[in-house]
Amino acid sequence: MKLCMIGTGYVGLVSGVCFSDIGNDVICVDNDIKKIEKLKKGSIPIYEPGLQELVLKNYRNKRLKFSTDLKDSVSKSDIIFICVGTPTKKKDNGADLSQIYNVANEIKNYIKKFKIIINKSTVPVMTGDEIEKIISQKVSKKKFSIVSNPEFLREGDAIRDFIYPDRVVVGTNHKKSNKILKNLYSPLISKGAKYVNTSRRAAELIKYSSNAFLATKITFINELANFCEKIEVNIEDISIGMGLDKRIGGRFLRAGPAYGGSCFPKDTKAIVNTADKFNTNLSIIKSVIKSNEKRSSLLIKRVFDILNNQVKNKKICFLGVTFKANTDDMRDSSCLTMIPSLVKKGALINYYDPTGEKNELKKIKNVNFSHDINSAIKYSDLIIIHTEWNDFKSINFKKKVLNKNFRIFDMRNIYSLTKMRDQKIKYFAIGR
Ligand code: NAD
Repeated sequence: MKLCMIGTGYVGLVSGVCFSDIGNDVICVDNDIKKIEKLKKGSIPIYEPGLQELVLKNYRNKRLKFSTDLKDSVSKSDIIFICVGTPTKKKDNGADLSQIYNVANEIKNYIKKFKIIINKSTVPVMTGDEIEKIISQKVSKKKFSIVSNPEFLREGDAIRDFIYPDRVVVGTNHKKSNKILKNLYSPLISKGAKYVNTSRRAAELIKYSSNAFLATKITFINELANFCEKIEVNIEDISIGMGLDKRIGGRFLRAGPAYGGSCFPKDTKAIVNTADKFNTNLSIIKSVIKSNEKRSSLLIKRVFDILNNQVKNKKICFLGVTFKANTDDMRDSSCLTMIPSLVKKGALINYYDPTGEKNELKKIKNVNFSHDINSAIKYSDLIIIHTEWNDFKSINFKKKVLNKNFRIFDMRNIYSLTKMRDQKIKYFAIGR
């Protein structure tokens, strides 16, 4: 099939490459000229394990193309995927849909024969209705169909998640589009993915509801971890004991820092905002958002406790600053709250991240990037393990840290309590 992905970010690039790898002709379009130039030279603008090899393979065999020419790309394709950003609005918590509507307004000029237009971006329920209205200003409804096909991939595992998804959700009542989409996804369905056809509005809501539920699970276990710290119970025991119940499941039940990233914070806010407009109070999700927003200050308070309230001039090292391991994505990482706040109190921050130095931290004074783990931790008073990269899982702290009085705050519970105790390391973790 001939596909066009509009927006070549995490979702557009990964799904475009994977679609080409299963035999389709794919054009990935973006209005960011530099990004497309880079991709044409074989350079990948994001960090995602396995992505570079797959891009190069499919670019070389010409099933994958990159372009900035929307008109040409739409004209040459039968199926158009919209994969642009839907960030939080500046003035309220709703989703900013300007990128989506800009695309709809532009492509309505380029539709001459039947096209299936699929929204893969995460959007509030009924956005598909709006896209349909915009396009029908210029094009007869017989010549297009608007489908919702939300994406559930996780950064860091994006390729695996795309090829082996639990489910593919396709929201459309249009029989022909449903048949074509089922055919497009048949290589994934034959590997075990469940194909779910719903109304367009239901598909839009499934995505927001799923993210809100996962954010709730994380927040639930984070709050229980706070409780465990007071009663000397190990939160890991609770996670295992609860997670083995198949009705609950163990994933997303590990205590840690506040959830972040490009999806959960914005999607929880957006679903609440949309429901409010329909006079429906999603009180559980509202309370999740509040609890998560408080979590970073709660963890900063713990840093103060660990350092006996003496933070000024203390050398604090962050291992990992992205919102989770195996990604370079800094969007809504809890570090963006914690680091400035500790700097304000006089701390001297050193950090190392396997995906390199971060622009977001460059402007903050007393924040320094180290190019390797050893130099990052060398003179630290406190080492904060913020993300769970494999690189951080077997560090010989006793040998590598020159400050005898150093402490560790392991926000991902990577290390064994007993091993740390045996080595006489002042070790603090989450909920245990
Ligand atoms: P992104 O910011 O990485 O990429 C969006 C891309 O769209 C950018 O490269 C931008 O230049 C491009 N773009 C914007 N307007 C354009 C236009 N008019 N023409 C061509 N290109 C245009 O965003 P993302 O992380 O890929 O997310 C895209 C959508 O998918 C969002 O709605 C997000 O919520 C959703 N989503 C993201 C993830 C994830 O893990 N990142 C997972 C599932 C769903």
